[in-house]
Amino acid sequence: MAEQAIAQELVREHLARLNEPSPMPPSERDALRNRIKSLLKERDAVLVAHYYTDPEIQALAEETGGCVSDSLEMARFGRDHPASQLVVAGVKFMGETAKILSPEKRVMMPTLEATCSLDIGCPADEFAAFCDQHPDRTVVVYANTSAAVKARADWVVTSSIALDVVDYLDSQGEKILWAPDKHLGDYVARETGADVLLWDGACIVHEEFKAQGILDLKKVYPEAAVLVHPESPASVVALADVVGSTTQIINAARDLPNQQVIVATDQGIFYKLQQLVPHKELIIAPTAGNGATCRSCANCPWMAMNGLQNLVTVLEQGGNEIEVDPELGAKAMKPLTRMLDFAAARR
Ligand code: SF4
Repeated sequence: MAEQAIAQELVREHLARLNEPSPMPPSERDALRNRIKSLLKERDAVLVAHYYTDPEIQALAEETGGCVSDSLEMARFGRDHPASQLVVAGVKFMGETAKILSPEKRVMMPTLEATCSLDIGCPADEFAAFCDQHPDRTVVVYANTSAAVKARADWVVTSSIALDVVDYLDSQGEKILWAPDKHLGDYVARETGADVLLWDGACIVHEEFKAQGILDLKKVYPEAAVLVHPESPASVVALADVVGSTTQIINAARDLPNQQVIVATDQGIFYKLQQLVPHKELIIAPTAGNGATCRSCANCPWMAMNGLQNLVTVLEQGGNEIEVDPELGAKAMKPLTRMLDFAAARR
């Protein structure tokens, strides 16, 4: 019973947080929203936002003809959109990816401070040395890396296409060097049976999900489907009904018959889930338990740095532009384009 009470408390805390009013007065918020809409038009700019950003940013992207998506679709959308300026609300590697794929466009971000533990944990020089030690392996890197790390790769993948790419490479007899997320790499290796050598990196958000917490929640919600992002530890993945990228999680929540859904990924995704399945009960997977640094954080601190105020500032003043060395960008473009072409062929 104690475990059930803890699980119920976690759910209550989470729902309370989702319904917390914005600290900004509504009139001020509306003024900022309207200003952003006008500036996007004036500047011939389009807003490209990740599912993990604040719901207000996601709503603005949708209302202004921009895009809310995972990093694969963000990259594709930015490249193919006719706007001359891209405003990327997400973390820095997403801005860099947009710039690499659209070098002729101006790419700005609400903040350049928004990074990612996977990117930080994979310095380009150390990664190059690791690759040099294993010249017989095909280098596959996750999109959550710097332009310099991408430039060293044979393939870039996102979580939505990682399995397909590694499965294909394995069928060609290739051995893989994978970086930086060890949990996703481990999942891909288990699912494909490929020979995968892992870099030791992790996402600070997904690594916090706890198998025991999900088991406790399942006692309260035995009919709930468990949807897990593969950046989570193997013990959490093992409990999943569906393992997938943000887009795949959203699709599963929509398509599965379960009326209750436990979600192990950043809680920013609840904005889109609430739109698509308002009649379903959405429950964030707990991050409590031994070794936890928070009770149910599930909230990327870097994604949370994107806000209305810094979005207005960047549109008004034009700072926070993403620059990628053209030579480096050209090198990184190859594995990125390989991924996009592969994804297009699969579609
Ligand atoms: S949620 Fe994890 S992988 Fe995504 S940006 Fe934040 S730290 Fe990086």
